[in-house]
Amino acid sequence: MDLTTLTEWIREYARVIADNAQNLSDLDAAIGDADHGINMERGMTAVIAAFEESAPADMAALCKQVGMTLVKSVGGASGPLYGTFFLRMAPALGSGDAVSDADFAKALRAGVDGVVQRGRAEAGDKTMFDALAPALDALDSALSSGASLADGLAAASAAAEKGRDATESMVARKGRASYLGQRSVGHVDPGATSAALLIAAAAKVAGGSAT
Ligand code: ADP
Ligand code: MG
Repeated sequence: MDLTTLTEWIREYARVIADNAQNLSDLDAAIGDADHGINMERGMTAVIAAFEESAPADMAALCKQVGMTLVKSVGGASGPLYGTFFLRMAPALGSGDAVSDADFAKALRAGVDGVVQRGRAEAGDKTMFDALAPALDALDSALSSGASLADGLAAASAAAEKGRDATESMVARKGRASYLGQRSVGHVDPGATSAALLIAAAAKVAGGSAT
């Protein structure tokens, strides 16, 4: 993974968030307050604006800028959570302009660990963690059996989508949706949906098919 691809990942994510904002807010309307798409779109628009203002010079600086911008610009729970994800990736990537596949996987893991420390979500709580955790497990197991980063991220993306779909039958135990208790069952979690889009965007740019 290098600085150019990392930048392309964030740009691709901003595009898919814009394309999916309505759907993310509709999902949030069912079990929350209908703003997840609005929150994420506001955040990613600010991230791209910050890129235009000053292009980060290395991988750590890029992730730090993305994370701080998300924390600052997103009001909902998802801003600090995604912000923490990128802020925690920064030191793990370091201030070079490329890292090994294994080190990129470790940086993603550090990001998800940060989400857990911040939000205390466990598997099955019906949150973004339920898409991110299986994605990282799939990436680790693909890389340890010798797969390329592109193939590992493709496997991670498939696992994230499966994890997202599995949130439909879960009872929410974190965030706003938890206020609904059993009534949260039957709806896919919006944050798990945006998290699956994040991993899909990484798979897309790593596969060389970025537009
Ligand atoms: P808000 O809930 O403040 O309106 P958003 O609608 O932007 O914020 O984000 C909601 C999403 O945030 C949920 O779908 C869930 O995936 C995620 N989320 C909420 N609380 C937590 C938490 N404690 N840990 C992990 N993810 C969480
Ligand atoms: Mg919301």
